Amino acid sequence: MSARPSTTRPRTVIDLADVRKTYRSGTIEFEALRGVDLAIEEGEYVSIMGPSGSGKSTLMNLLGCLDTLTSGSYRLAGQDIADHDEQELARIRNREIGFVFQGFNLLPSLSAVQNVELPLVYAGIGREERRERAARALDRVGLGDRLANRPGELSGGQQQRVAVARALVGEPTIILADEPTGNLDSVSTGDVLRLFDELHASGRTIVLITHEPEVAERTRRIVRVRDGLIQSDEAVAA
Ligand code: ADP
Ligand code: MG
Repeated sequence: MSARPSTTRPRTVIDLADVRKTYRSGTIEFEALRGVDLAIEEGEYVSIMGPSGSGKSTLMNLLGCLDTLTSGSYRLAGQDIADHDEQELARIRNREIGFVFQGFNLLPSLSAVQNVELPLVYAGIGREERRERAARALDRVGLGDRLANRPGELSGGQQQRVAVARALVGEPTIILADEPTGNLDSVSTGDVLRLFDELHASGRTIVLITHEPEVAERTRRIVRVRDGLIQSDEAVAA
């Protein structure tokens, strides 16, 4: 897939300011994010690390507009998400973000190419163009010969590559991946990380959540979260 046209200066695609997230169950409140500031520019390859319970998935859900902030602000691709209702947010999410999850989240009854087509169905793209773009995305991840296979007929690594193709097919601004190699063996992990390297080289913005140092070191910038706060934010030495 081709890189986006270059602009004179990098665009800030994610901009969080003093973001807090409080979960409430009954009378119990828990502040999972306690004032997070984070800016990510177009084309960056960033990992978010932190121990279990530190707030990584909460942060991913907010970045992906899958949940709402308790306070603070979030500008996604230049738009303040507070200005949009749920339906508009769903549209923005579909256009700007491609998701990759630890558990692949493929529909078991659909073939690989049908799974990859789904974001284009939601975007209202016609059948023929959908099929063509989905097949191209699968080819891009090395699965051009597996279009008709259902997830159950593919290895874990292949399933995750189908999920990456699904994340890519709508040409989103950002790929958000939560523990994308968490369920994979070392060979498949290598395949998926090589794919992310290539996507980064072609100009994609990638935000990857992981607790594995080997995975984080493949990215260019490591943001460490602890107890709902950003503890450090460092470039990875080349
Ligand atoms: P991580 O992904 O880093 O393991 P999470 O973002 O999932 O951490 O969770 C951060 C904290 O928020 C944890 O203490 C967790 O128990 C709490 N938490 C997460 N989701 C909820 C929820 N829906 N309701 C209440 N507490 C939650
Ligand atoms: Mg998590």
